[in-house]
Amino acid sequence: MESCLYVVATPIGNLDDFSVRAVDILRGADLIAAEDTRHSQRLLQHYAIATPVMAYHDHSDDRAVGKILACLTGGGAVALVSDAGTPLISDPGYRLVRAIQDAGFPVRPIPGACAAVAALSVSGLATDRFLFEGFLPARAAARDSRLAGLAGEAATVIFYEAPHRVLESLAAMAAAFGPEREAVLAREVTKTFETIRRGSLAELLAFVSADDNQQKGEIVLLVAGARANTSEVTEEVGALLRRLARELPAKTAAAVVADHTGLRKRVLYDYLLAHKEK
Ligand code: SAM
Repeated sequence: MESCLYVVATPIGNLDDFSVRAVDILRGADLIAAEDTRHSQRLLQHYAIATPVMAYHDHSDDRAVGKILACLTGGGAVALVSDAGTPLISDPGYRLVRAIQDAGFPVRPIPGACAAVAALSVSGLATDRFLFEGFLPARAAARDSRLAGLAGEAATVIFYEAPHRVLESLAAMAAAFGPEREAVLAREVTKTFETIRRGSLAELLAFVSADDNQQKGEIVLLVAGARANTSEVTEEVGALLRRLARELPAKTAAAVVADHTGLRKRVLYDYLLAHKEK
């Protein structure tokens, strides 16, 4: 095995969501650096991985980084895992990856599950542009100001959410983005009680309020991007745009009409999304 740090993604619920390569790397490594050694034991035992494990957190002292560097300097290979999903994605590893790169060793990804991407892939929301926001600040004032800054964001926005805060956060999102904004609750992804629910923020708030079970487990919230204000598109321009969109991809139709009217492409594209012909 190459002497390097492998950043290994682990399952986010279903233990079978683990690649053959990931298992080989964990078995073959000289050392596994884990966010929580006890938590990782379940996965390691399931796959009969007997590699020595040490604890690593971004606030671990320098001795932890030193131990990993010593292993690499001696020609060994180290694998970094977090409790679930991809390390560094709302998980420890940032400081370590930089330290190992700065010391001149390669860092290699062993890709796999990530709750944000898994949820996005089944959300039914636009996937061409997305913004990962991770956890919102716990304090209401900081949370609200973060949400206010995202209200005009055109990309789909992805949040990680703690179950005891989901109701409060949905209410704050409805206040910041408007209750009609489309959103998705993705709960317990890949697990027994997996729930993927798309609706307006007002609908999701009602759904979660009515059922305590929806306030349990692991949760990703996704919010559709803001639509441009399409009120400047006249009846006549709108009709032309819809006609062109029957012959051309929506983006091309919007670009052609933008060239001829001076209106912004995004406004015309959003108009088409809002007036989709069934
Ligand atoms: N590194 C992980 C990843 O790649 O997704 C994320 C770690 S972060 C500390 C944990 C958060 O991820 C949870 O609070 C939840 O918001 C989200 N999450 C993790 N597993 C999930 C699952 N199975 N279903 C829904 N959300 C999940």
